[in-house]
Amino acid sequence: MAYFFRSSGDRPNSFNKSQIMGGELHDRLEENIRPFLDLIDKLRSIGIQKDLDMSLPTIVVIGDQSSGKSSVLEALSGVALPRGSGIVTRCPLELKLRKVTGGSWKATISYRRKKMEVANPSSGKTESSGARQDVRVSYIPQTITFEDPSLVERHVKDAQIAQAGDGAGISDEIITLEIRSPDVCDLTLIDLPGIARVPLQGQPLDIGNKIKTLIMKFIRKPETINMVVVPLNIDIATTEALKMAQEVDPEGTRTFAVLTKPDLIDKGTERHILATAQNKVVPLRKGYIMVKCRGQQQIDDNISLDEASTMERDFFENHDYFSCLLNENKATIPCLATELTEQLVDHIKKSLPLLDEEIKKQLSEVRKELKKIEGGPPRDPQGAKQYLINILSEFNQKMQSLSLGDLIIKENLFNELRVEYKKWNDFLNNSMSTFFHPSAKIKQEIMKNRGRELASFSSYRVFEMLLQKHVAQLKDPAIVLLTTVKDIIFKQFSCLSKDCFWRYPELLKLTMEKIEDIQSSQHRKAEERITEQFEMENMICTQDDIYFKTLNRNMKEAFSDTQLPLCDIASKYSDMLKAYYEIMVQRMADQVPMLTRYCMLKEAVHLLCKDMLTLLDSENVGEILSENTDIGRKRRDLQARLDRLNTAQGEIEKCI
Ligand code: GDP
Ligand code: MG
Repeated sequence: MAYFFRSSGDRPNSFNKSQIMGGELHDRLEENIRPFLDLIDKLRSIGIQKDLDMSLPTIVVIGDQSSGKSSVLEALSGVALPRGSGIVTRCPLELKLRKVTGGSWKATISYRRKKMEVANPSSGKTESSGARQDVRVSYIPQTITFEDPSLVERHVKDAQIAQAGDGAGISDEIITLEIRSPDVCDLTLIDLPGIARVPLQGQPLDIGNKIKTLIMKFIRKPETINMVVVPLNIDIATTEALKMAQEVDPEGTRTFAVLTKPDLIDKGTERHILATAQNKVVPLRKGYIMVKCRGQQQIDDNISLDEASTMERDFFENHDYFSCLLNENKATIPCLATELTEQLVDHIKKSLPLLDEEIKKQLSEVRKELKKIEGGPPRDPQGAKQYLINILSEFNQKMQSLSLGDLIIKENLFNELRVEYKKWNDFLNNSMSTFFHPSAKIKQEIMKNRGRELASFSSYRVFEMLLQKHVAQLKDPAIVLLTTVKDIIFKQFSCLSKDCFWRYPELLKLTMEKIEDIQSSQHRKAEERITEQFEMENMICTQDDIYFKTLNRNMKEAFSDTQLPLCDIASKYSDMLKAYYEIMVQRMADQVPMLTRYCMLKEAVHLLCKDMLTLLDSENVGEILSENTDIGRKRRDLQARLDRLNTAQGEIEKCI
């Protein structure tokens, strides 16, 4: 059985195989249609789908359960598909019909067999023991080629069981059935599970929703033509499938309907149904086509598809109401085949510019990605060395900028440091209040620590000792600040190194080792300096001018060095202590941050940059520059993608 294309101006009234296949017409149609279908086929075989955000143009068949979807596909393809009551189609079935000149009927079914494995069966624990078992699901691709059309039904059933299990469950994994034969039209359609209204025995309660979700996934795509199968023995307005199609395509630009079972309509409804078929009741932009397939009785009577086709023609020719549909090209399966092909080609033509644009977009993205990892170090020692010089000097430059605050990677280094330095300053200021409040405490301490002096006599030794005790308490927090600063700077150094050398694991490792060495020796050095600073602070020392300035600011009266003896009385001790402490705190608020920044950042960067250059003296520069294996893989993947996209673009350009 064959349905071949007829151009709109050339539709014969009576369907005649030999006439339609007749040479000239055939050739012209080959010219107009085949290249587009071939293009989509080629794009699919290139595997371009996985590179695109859009899908390739296809026709999807949807309808309520038992509306006649499979019967229509059967009639179009000339092969028997699984049928029965309930959900027979449980996975999307992509039916690729390819007309071949010469050669015999041949089909290939491909799908992915679901395999479940318990991840660690060796543990010996069974489910009943309560242990959780990890089940790993993997899919093994299957491809079976066969030459007997009567085997289609069995193979499709097997594939469904392999993918969706033996029960009544569904799966959204596609089964592809390609039929090559001189007797089919060129078409690709996807048959989807029918919309179930009520779950059958053994079916999950949410089966209806599951099926709808699956259908939605397909019909939502703007590249899909939705072919809605509507049986005429029910009210078209209540058809769920049509509602869904209208939901995703309110304009109706890619929806059209096939009316089935015209032999089963209620007497008296013919006029209304004719009006529906003529697009006068529920108007669809792409309209309706009425077909009559084999009923259950005819199947039971072993009526062949060929015979059914003749019977369909007779049915319409002799029908009191529907015969006019033949002239309007709105009835019979051959007419549907032509219509589908034309619509598909039309849709492909419309989608091409978008597809072309999408491919161009992807091409430029892939090229950009490739550029990032392109190049790589030269293989010859001289070239490799020059390359190393370049990347090292770039790294050193970046390090310098980082230490000057000109380069910001992720977080702002100087901001982070400032936050910590401010905390240190706040801590010093707070320590003042714990030292001097309550003020009676200071007086008590002075009295307690006095030597042979009578009360109210002054002793510089006591004054000094009290200050020394409190200054010493600031050392540990200063060391903590140093560690925090070290961590912050280390994070920034390693971040910058990864940024610069992520492609070269060996170089990155060497750099990190250097950073760690320099950081820890600088840390030791800074710690010594801080310790030394606190040893100096033990001396209690400031200039007279500075001391009096602070003292005067704190006290109501003004003192000068000539009034000194008046001041040196026990009652003024706490003011004097406070004045000195303030001076010391101010000194330390700057001194410790300056020390940490100098040792951990400025000097560390200087040392690191110098040390990095020693890498140029290495025996084996090639080893230092050996690349990450992931990069090689990524480059290969991108290259393959680039090839696919380029091929696809070349193919599209031939058709545009
Ligand atoms: P699906 O569930 O949508 O795939 O529906 P099927 O194609 O399995 O058809 C459901 C039932 O309707 C089957 O018994 C078919 O034989 C029958 N059927 C389909 N089309 C026609 C038709 O045009 N006329 C008659 N009388 N029965 C049909
Ligand atoms: Mg079906």
